Order: sequence, then C-alpha cells, then structure tokens
Amino acid sequence: MLQSSLHRILIVGVFTTGLSLTGAHADPLPRVVLILDQSGPGLTAYGQIVSAFRSSLDVPADPAVTIYHEKLDLNVFDGPAYQNVLATFVTEKYRDRPIGMIVALGARALHCSILLRDKQRPEIPIVFAGVGDEATELSELPPNVTGRTIQVSFENYIMAARHLVSGLRQLAVVGDPLERQGFRSHLKRALLSPPPGVEFLDLTGLPIRNVKERVAILASDSAILFTTLNVDGDGKVLTPRQALDTIARSANRPIVVDVETHVGRGAAGGFVVRPAVVGKETAELVSRVFDAGTASRIPITASDSVWPVFSWLELQKWGIDERFLPPGSDVRFRQTQMWDRYRWQIVLFTAVFLLQSFLILAFLYEDRRRRVAEAASAQLRSELAHLDRVATAGELSASIAHEIRQPLAAIVAFGTAGLRWLTRNEPDLPEARKALRTIVDEGHRAGQVIENVRAMFKNNAEPRTVLDVAALVRKTLALIPGEIRKNDIVITLELDEAQPVQVYGNEVQLRQVLLNLVTNAIDSMKSITDRPRQLRVTVKSSNPNTVSIAVEDSGPGIDPRNMTRLFDPFFSTKPSGMGLGLSICKSIVEAHDGRLTATAAGRYGAVFRIVLPGIAESMT
Ligand code: ADP
Repeated sequence: MLQSSLHRILIVGVFTTGLSLTGAHADPLPRVVLILDQSGPGLTAYGQIVSAFRSSLDVPADPAVTIYHEKLDLNVFDGPAYQNVLATFVTEKYRDRPIGMIVALGARALHCSILLRDKQRPEIPIVFAGVGDEATELSELPPNVTGRTIQVSFENYIMAARHLVSGLRQLAVVGDPLERQGFRSHLKRALLSPPPGVEFLDLTGLPIRNVKERVAILASDSAILFTTLNVDGDGKVLTPRQALDTIARSANRPIVVDVETHVGRGAAGGFVVRPAVVGKETAELVSRVFDAGTASRIPITASDSVWPVFSWLELQKWGIDERFLPPGSDVRFRQTQMWDRYRWQIVLFTAVFLLQSFLILAFLYEDRRRRVAEAASAQLRSELAHLDRVATAGELSASIAHEIRQPLAAIVAFGTAGLRWLTRNEPDLPEARKALRTIVDEGHRAGQVIENVRAMFKNNAEPRTVLDVAALVRKTLALIPGEIRKNDIVITLELDEAQPVQVYGNEVQLRQVLLNLVTNAIDSMKSITDRPRQLRVTVKSSNPNTVSIAVEDSGPGIDPRNMTRLFDPFFSTKPSGMGLGLSICKSIVEAHDGRLTATAAGRYGAVFRIVLPGIAESMT
C-alpha cells in the first residue's frame, strides 16, 4: 500500500514539474551525483557512509564530481502526505540541475529512487548501498541499477553471540519491527525459524520501557541482539544511539550489534557493517559507472564491509577472553596501561632521574671525601710542621750550642776576672762591677737564646697578635749569628724604619717561615766562592694594606725546571734535605691570608717574597 501510494505521488510530481534528470547514452553523464539517503538526522552510520563517499570521490578527478545530498528520513516518517512533499521537494529543488547519477542509501531510498527516475529518465544510472542481499527490491530491479549488497544474517549474529556467551541458548532481538528495517527486513522471516539449539526472544516493536525490563532479567545463557531503533512501540522517536545507550544500561547480558558505530556504546560487538568501507565501495562503483556511462553492465556484488569488531571495554565488563573472538577480530577502545602508553617517556624520565640522583650522590660523596682529605691534610701539615721544626733542631743544635757556649764562656771569663778584681789586696770594685754586669748581660743573652728555641719547638697554635715585622726579622736573624758568621754572609737589612710595619699573625710560625727562607738562602750560597755571599732582607709596606718581606740571596738561583715543584712536599735538591721547608712555609703564609712566591733575583740568586695583609686589612 505504501509503495503504491508513493508510486502514484511520484509519478504525479515528476510529470507535473518535469525534474530535469538528463543524460543520453551518446553523451557522457554530467558529473553530478544526487544522494538520496533514507536516514534522518542523528544516524551516524549513514553520515559516515556519506563522508567516506565524498572523501573517496574527492581524488583529483577532472572534472570534479558535484554531490547533492538529501536525507529523506524514511526510518521515522512515513505515509502518502510525507511522500508527496518529498517528491515535490526533490523535483523542484533539482529542476535546473543536470543530475548524472543517483546514489540510493538504504532499501527504502532505493525504492524511491527507482520510482522517481523510471517515469522520466530511465537512462540515469542508480547506484545503491546499504541494501541487504535478500531485499525484495533486488529481485525486481529495472535496468541501469547496480550496487553492493550487505549480508546481515542470523548466522552471523549467532556466531558472534556464541563467541561472547558460551553455551548460548537464547538471543533476545531488540529494535524496530524487522520488516521496517531496510537491509534487515528479510530477517523477519528468519526470526520464525531459529537454528537448532537456539531460541529467539522477539522484543522488536515493544515500548522501550518494556525492553529495558526484559533485558535486565535474561538467563545467563542469553545474549542480546540490538538492530536499530528509531520509533519504539509507544511511538516515541529516538536515535538508535539513544536507544542503545538506554538498553545497555539495563542489560544483564552482552549486546551483539551489526553496525560499527554501535560498538563500544554499551554493545560488545559482532560482525558489523563498516560505514567507511561502504562509502568507499560506493565511490568506486560510481566512478566505474561514470566511466561506462551506464550501470546496466556492472553486476551487483556483495560488499566487503562486514568485519568482526568488538569493544575491549565490554569484553572486560563481561569477562570475555579475547582469544575466544573470531580470528582477525578488530578490538577497539583498548585502554592501554600507563606503562604501555608512556613507556618511552617513563623510561627516559626514570633514566634522567636515576642519573641525576647518581650525580648528586657522587657529588655528595666527593664533597665528603674532599672534606675528609682536607682535614687529613691539615692534620698532616701540622704534624709535618712539627716534624720539620724537630728536624731543624738538628741543624740548629750546633748553632745553639755555639750561641750558649759563647755567653757561658764569657760568664766564666768575667766571673774569674771579677773574682780576681775582688781578691786583690785593694779590690778594684768598679772593674768587679763591670765584670758582674757583663755576667748578667751574658746570662740574659743565653736565656734569650733558650727562650727562642723553646718557642720554636712548641706545636700549639699560639694566638695571633700584632707583630712588628722589623723586630720579627731581627729576632730571626739573632737565632743564627754563628751560621752567618761561619759562612761569611753579608747581611743587608732594608727595613722601613720611618713607620712601624706591622702584621697580625702568629709570631712563632712567621719566625719559622723567615728562618727557613734565610737558612735556605745561606745554604744556597755555601758553594759560592767567586762573589760575595749577600743576604738581603727587605721589608716594605707598599700600600697600607700589604706588607712584603723579601729574602734575596746571591746564590746560584733556582733551576727553571724546578720552579713549579719548589713548594711541593718532599721536593729537595739537597743530599740530606727533607724538602718540607717551603711547603710548610707556603701553608703558614696562606693560613695568614698571604702569598709566598719565588723568583730569580737580578743577575744571580733567588728572591723569596712573603706578601701579607697589612694590619688594617687583616684586622677587619
Ligand atoms: P730542603 O731545604 O729540605 O731541600 P725546602 O722545601 O726548604 O727543602 O727547599 C726545597 C728546594 O728548594 C731546595 O732543595 C732547593 O733546591 C730549592 N731552594 C730553596 N731555597 C732556595 C734558594 N734560596 N736558592 C736556590 N734554591 C732554593
């Protein structure tokens, strides 16, 4: 009845308005395609078919194909009045457009297209898609129509359901009445004769609220088949997606579907039609028809768009092992673990983190080692300084003995003389007093020598005081007058007598430094016979904050090869030298915030220069 009324209306529309469907066998077809799409708004699958069709045709064809697209909404709207309006609308809208081909999406759209075309321009080819291979239309198709058919069958549904539910006994079928469902319309008959071992629970055409109740209490050996649902048993209009969402929320068993766009929206999957493949196949067919100028010689073939596709989320929900799926199944919506998704980032980050931690630890370890080493070295230096002073004792003992022997000899001599002056018949008191005064002076001198030596061998760090540098030099030289005399050393002192030159430091240590430099200078000159052995000590306060003490000799000077090693511990060119003196001197001077350097002196000899902060500087 529907078909006959539509037929009548379309004939009237076409004859009265004259839709300009043009095209002759001789001329190439105008490259203009009119898509008559049976879906309405909200049907994603058809939308995907059309967009895949467009993008597949959109290859640089010359001339490009113009595409018009009409959504007829035949899944929801029906009846002669609507059909009449549709026929008029399409005819009027495209009156002046040279349509070269009609693409019909869905069985109802194919039916309309044939009626619309045949009464006016039967030479316009029709290419169809989304039509089931058992659709009644296919058996009585007029010429110049081709397309690709979709195979949906209960065999496929049951096969998919068996992969999801082991021991499947029941398949609950949900959706619009099957006879109204385009490419699924032929399934109506199959519903009456289920295969052995499986029974169908027909929930098609029911109000959605009833469907919800029924799918919530299915037996454990059941699965649900969702086909499509546009208008429920109460006449309520829904999009298939809304319907699927609603049913999935209540369902107590996995849902099988046959359209790719339904997978993952609460449906587990199945052998589904992939709209993108349908669109691509249709575009290829349209190109072939354009090339041939007619659809008559191009046979109708089965679409390759059906493929097993499942949702990983649903498989998890129902505890289904992927290994039980049909071979080659496409599993979508896989939720990768953090590790799978960011593996390289995690590895890289961890490596950088570990490297950084390692570097920090290494740094801390090195820092600790350095501190320990510094402490050990300070300790060693202190011990060495003491050792050196003890070693110097050997060298000094001769001169000390000499120094003390002199006053002692003088004391004895003057004591004897004094006794003589007193034991005379007429005691010569003035002479005796003179002798006694000399004895007292010599006693003090000997005491001073001993005091100096004692101070030298103390190993404790004495407090720092303000020191007069000129006095420091004199006291040091006073320790070794014998050495100086014995070696014929000519001493020149250039002391800045105008103003006292002062430093802040440890007297014993600084005297040890000076003594070391002076004895080194004397040692170096012992071999000199062809020129005077001159020792010059110069004290200068070149600017208010710096004091320099230079010890210069006229010895052989320093071999340039040894210059860099002079201050190294145990470096010595003397047969019995310990090589510690200069290294200790350097550390003492540096402990006073000063510098000790060695350079060549004029023509002969060497200059060792101590530069210390002046009193103003070091006190701050
Ligand atoms: P030592 O006196 O036990 O050798 P030092 O550290 O005091 O140890 O001196 C190291 C070396 O520096 C000496 O062996 C010598 O070669 C060189 N040296 C030191 N002072 C002088 C100097 N005034 N003239 C030339 N060489 C010197």
